[in-house]
Amino acid sequence: MSLKVLVVEDDREIRALLQSSLSVEGFAVQTAVTLSEATALLRHDPPDLVVLDLGLPDGDGVQLVRELRQTRSTPVIVVSARHQEAQKIELLDAGADDYLGKPFSVAELLARMRVALRHRGTSLAAAVTLHELDGLRVDLAARVVQVNGAALHLTPTEFKLLARLVRSAGRVVTHRQLLSDVWGPEYTDHTHYLRLYMGQLRAKIERDPAEPRHLLTETGVGYRLADS
Ligand code: CA
Repeated sequence: MSLKVLVVEDDREIRALLQSSLSVEGFAVQTAVTLSEATALLRHDPPDLVVLDLGLPDGDGVQLVRELRQTRSTPVIVVSARHQEAQKIELLDAGADDYLGKPFSVAELLARMRVALRHRGTSLAAAVTLHELDGLRVDLAARVVQVNGAALHLTPTEFKLLARLVRSAGRVVTHRQLLSDVWGPEYTDHTHYLRLYMGQLRAKIERDPAEPRHLLTETGVGYRLADS
Protein backbone atom coordinates (compact mmCIF):
# COMPACT_ATOMS: atom_id res chain seq x y z
CA MET A 1 0.00 0.00 0.00
CA SER A 2 1.41 3.40 -0.88
CA LEU A 3 2.04 6.01 1.78
CA LYS A 4 -0.40 8.90 1.93
CA VAL A 5 0.94 12.44 1.78
CA LEU A 6 -1.16 15.52 2.42
CA VAL A 7 0.11 18.61 0.58
CA VAL A 8 -1.22 21.87 2.06
CA GLU A 9 -0.35 24.67 -0.34
CA ASP A 10 -2.37 27.56 -1.78
CA ASP A 11 0.00 28.26 -4.68
CA ARG A 12 -1.52 26.41 -7.62
CA GLU A 13 1.75 25.80 -9.49
CA ILE A 14 3.65 24.47 -6.48
CA ARG A 15 0.67 22.31 -5.50
CA ALA A 16 0.53 20.80 -9.00
CA LEU A 17 4.31 20.25 -9.05
CA LEU A 18 4.22 18.49 -5.68
CA GLN A 19 1.20 16.41 -6.63
CA SER A 20 2.79 15.14 -9.82
CA SER A 21 6.31 14.60 -8.52
CA LEU A 22 5.21 12.86 -5.31
CA SER A 23 2.78 10.66 -7.26
CA VAL A 24 5.62 9.62 -9.56
CA GLU A 25 7.54 8.54 -6.45
CA GLY A 26 4.66 6.26 -5.51
CA PHE A 27 2.96 8.34 -2.83
CA ALA A 28 -0.82 8.69 -2.73
CA VAL A 29 -1.20 12.48 -2.72
CA GLN A 30 -4.06 14.49 -1.25
CA THR A 31 -4.08 18.26 -1.51
CA ALA A 32 -5.62 21.06 0.52
CA VAL A 33 -5.61 24.78 -0.25
CA THR A 34 -6.68 26.13 3.13
CA LEU A 35 -6.15 25.34 6.81
CA SER A 36 -9.78 24.35 7.27
CA GLU A 37 -9.64 21.96 4.33
CA ALA A 38 -6.44 20.44 5.69
CA THR A 39 -7.93 20.09 9.17
CA ALA A 40 -10.94 18.24 7.76
CA LEU A 41 -8.73 15.87 5.76
CA LEU A 42 -6.48 15.21 8.75
CA ARG A 43 -9.51 14.25 10.78
CA HIS A 44 -11.28 12.04 8.24
CA ASP A 45 -8.43 10.50 6.29
CA PRO A 46 -5.17 10.83 8.26
CA PRO A 47 -2.07 10.88 6.03
CA ASP A 48 1.34 9.34 6.78
CA LEU A 49 3.11 12.65 6.23
CA VAL A 50 2.19 16.33 5.74
CA VAL A 51 3.96 18.83 3.48
CA LEU A 52 2.87 22.24 4.72
CA ASP A 53 3.06 25.78 3.40
CA LEU A 54 2.84 28.53 6.03
CA GLY A 55 1.03 31.42 4.37
CA LEU A 56 -2.47 30.06 3.77
CA PRO A 57 -5.64 32.01 2.91
CA ASP A 58 -7.30 31.35 6.28
CA GLY A 59 -4.32 31.38 8.62
CA ASP A 60 -0.81 30.29 9.39
CA GLY A 61 0.43 26.72 8.92
CA VAL A 62 1.99 26.75 12.39
CA GLN A 63 -1.57 26.53 13.81
CA LEU A 64 -2.00 23.24 11.99
CA VAL A 65 1.25 21.87 13.43
CA ARG A 66 0.14 22.76 16.98
CA GLU A 67 -3.34 21.26 16.52
CA LEU A 68 -1.97 18.10 14.93
CA ARG A 69 0.64 17.58 17.67
CA GLN A 70 -2.07 17.47 20.33
CA THR A 71 -3.23 14.13 18.98
CA ARG A 72 -0.80 12.75 16.40
CA SER A 73 2.89 12.29 15.67
CA THR A 74 2.46 12.44 11.86
CA PRO A 75 5.67 13.86 10.35
CA VAL A 76 5.29 17.46 9.10
CA ILE A 77 7.70 19.09 6.66
CA VAL A 78 7.26 22.82 6.25
CA VAL A 79 7.95 24.40 2.89
CA SER A 80 7.94 28.16 3.03
CA ALA A 81 9.32 31.35 1.52
CA ARG A 82 9.83 32.78 5.00
CA HIS A 83 13.42 32.70 6.01
CA GLN A 84 13.54 34.30 9.44
CA GLU A 85 15.29 32.04 11.89
CA ALA A 86 12.80 32.90 14.64
CA GLN A 87 9.98 31.44 12.56
CA LYS A 88 11.90 28.28 11.76
CA ILE A 89 12.60 27.79 15.43
CA GLU A 90 8.96 28.45 16.36
CA LEU A 91 7.89 25.79 13.87
CA LEU A 92 10.38 23.20 14.98
CA ASP A 93 9.50 23.87 18.60
CA ALA A 94 5.80 23.49 17.71
CA GLY A 95 6.61 19.99 16.45
CA ALA A 96 7.39 20.30 12.74
CA ASP A 97 9.99 17.72 11.68
CA ASP A 98 11.87 19.77 9.14
CA TYR A 99 11.91 23.00 7.23
CA LEU A 100 12.67 23.73 3.58
CA GLY A 101 12.96 27.25 2.18
CA LYS A 102 11.37 28.13 -1.15
CA PRO A 103 12.52 27.73 -3.82
CA PHE A 104 13.31 24.11 -3.01
CA SER A 105 14.28 21.10 -5.07
CA VAL A 106 11.91 18.14 -5.16
CA ALA A 107 14.90 15.82 -4.65
CA GLU A 108 15.75 17.63 -1.41
CA LEU A 109 12.12 17.45 -0.25
CA LEU A 110 12.02 13.71 -0.98
CA ALA A 111 15.25 13.18 0.97
CA ARG A 112 13.82 15.04 3.99
CA MET A 113 10.56 13.08 3.70
CA ARG A 114 12.47 9.79 3.76
CA VAL A 115 14.36 10.86 6.88
CA ALA A 116 11.16 11.94 8.64
CA LEU A 117 9.36 8.71 7.76
CA ARG A 118 12.31 6.54 8.70
CA HIS A 119 12.74 8.38 11.95
CA ARG A 120 9.07 7.95 12.79
CA GLY A 121 9.27 4.27 11.91
CA THR A 122 12.23 3.66 14.19
CA SER A 123 10.85 5.76 17.03
CA LEU A 124 7.64 3.71 16.89
CA ALA A 125 9.62 0.48 17.09
CA ALA A 126 12.57 0.84 19.46
CA ALA A 127 14.51 3.87 20.58
CA VAL A 128 17.63 4.48 18.51
CA THR A 129 20.65 3.45 20.56
CA LEU A 130 23.27 2.82 17.90
CA HIS A 131 24.59 5.32 15.38
CA GLU A 132 27.22 4.39 12.81
CA LEU A 133 28.47 6.55 9.96
CA ASP A 134 31.82 7.05 8.27
CA GLY A 135 34.01 5.72 11.08
CA LEU A 136 31.94 7.26 13.88
CA ARG A 137 30.22 4.71 16.11
CA VAL A 138 28.03 5.75 19.04
CA ASP A 139 26.53 3.03 21.20
CA LEU A 140 24.23 4.76 23.67
CA ALA A 141 23.35 1.62 25.61
CA ALA A 142 27.02 0.75 26.22
CA ARG A 143 28.01 4.45 26.50
CA VAL A 144 30.80 3.88 24.01
CA VAL A 145 31.91 6.34 21.33
CA GLN A 146 34.51 5.27 18.80
CA VAL A 147 36.21 6.94 15.87
CA ASN A 148 37.76 4.51 13.40
CA GLY A 149 37.70 1.79 16.04
CA ALA A 150 39.43 3.83 18.75
CA ALA A 151 37.42 4.61 21.89
CA LEU A 152 36.99 8.30 22.73
CA HIS A 153 36.78 9.76 26.17
CA LEU A 154 33.86 12.18 26.41
CA THR A 155 32.86 14.21 29.44
CA PRO A 156 29.35 13.44 30.78
CA THR A 157 27.97 16.64 29.22
CA GLU A 158 29.62 15.96 25.86
CA PHE A 159 28.11 12.48 25.90
CA LYS A 160 24.65 13.79 26.79
CA LEU A 161 24.78 16.31 23.96
CA LEU A 162 25.91 13.70 21.43
CA ALA A 163 23.29 11.23 22.69
CA ARG A 164 20.54 13.83 22.23
CA LEU A 165 21.63 14.34 18.62
CA VAL A 166 21.86 10.58 17.98
CA ARG A 167 18.23 10.20 19.08
CA SER A 168 17.25 12.67 16.34
CA ALA A 169 19.92 11.68 13.80
CA GLY A 170 19.26 13.24 10.43
CA ARG A 171 16.97 15.88 11.88
CA VAL A 172 17.70 19.40 13.03
CA VAL A 173 17.44 19.91 16.79
CA THR A 174 16.98 23.55 17.85
CA HIS A 175 19.35 25.33 20.24
CA ARG A 176 16.48 25.60 22.65
CA GLN A 177 15.70 21.87 22.58
CA LEU A 178 19.35 20.95 23.04
CA LEU A 179 19.89 23.34 25.94
CA SER A 180 16.69 22.23 27.61
CA ASP A 181 17.35 18.50 27.18
CA VAL A 182 21.06 18.53 28.05
CA TRP A 183 21.37 21.29 30.66
CA GLY A 184 17.77 21.80 31.77
CA PRO A 185 14.78 24.02 30.92
CA GLU A 186 16.23 27.00 32.78
CA TYR A 187 19.26 27.08 30.44
CA THR A 188 17.50 27.72 27.13
CA ASP A 189 19.18 31.13 26.68
CA HIS A 190 22.73 29.88 27.33
CA THR A 191 23.65 29.32 23.68
CA HIS A 192 27.33 29.90 24.51
CA TYR A 193 27.31 26.53 26.37
CA LEU A 194 26.29 24.86 23.14
CA ARG A 195 28.95 26.59 21.08
CA LEU A 196 31.60 25.59 23.63
CA TYR A 197 30.57 21.95 23.90
CA MET A 198 29.92 21.56 20.20
CA GLY A 199 33.46 22.83 19.60
CA GLN A 200 34.85 20.26 22.04
CA LEU A 201 32.83 17.43 20.48
CA ARG A 202 33.91 18.39 16.98
CA ALA A 203 37.55 18.51 18.07
CA LYS A 204 37.22 14.93 19.30
CA ILE A 205 35.03 13.47 16.56
CA GLU A 206 35.61 15.33 13.32
CA ARG A 207 38.58 14.74 11.02
CA ASP A 208 38.43 18.46 10.21
CA PRO A 209 36.46 20.36 12.89
CA ALA A 210 36.24 23.39 10.58
CA GLU A 211 34.47 21.27 7.91
CA PRO A 212 32.32 18.94 10.01
CA ARG A 213 31.14 15.68 8.48
CA HIS A 214 28.97 14.62 11.43
CA LEU A 215 27.97 17.55 13.64
CA LEU A 216 26.36 19.92 11.19
CA THR A 217 25.40 23.52 11.93
CA GLU A 218 21.94 24.71 10.89
CA THR A 219 22.78 28.39 11.00
CA GLY A 220 20.73 30.29 13.54
CA VAL A 221 18.50 27.27 14.19
CA GLY A 222 20.42 24.41 15.77
CA TYR A 223 22.44 21.33 14.93
CA ARG A 224 21.92 18.14 12.97
CA LEU A 225 23.82 14.87 13.28
CA ALA A 226 24.43 13.63 9.74
CA ASP A 227 22.94 10.20 9.12
CA SER A 228 23.98 9.71 5.51
CA1 CA B 1 1.22 30.33 0.48
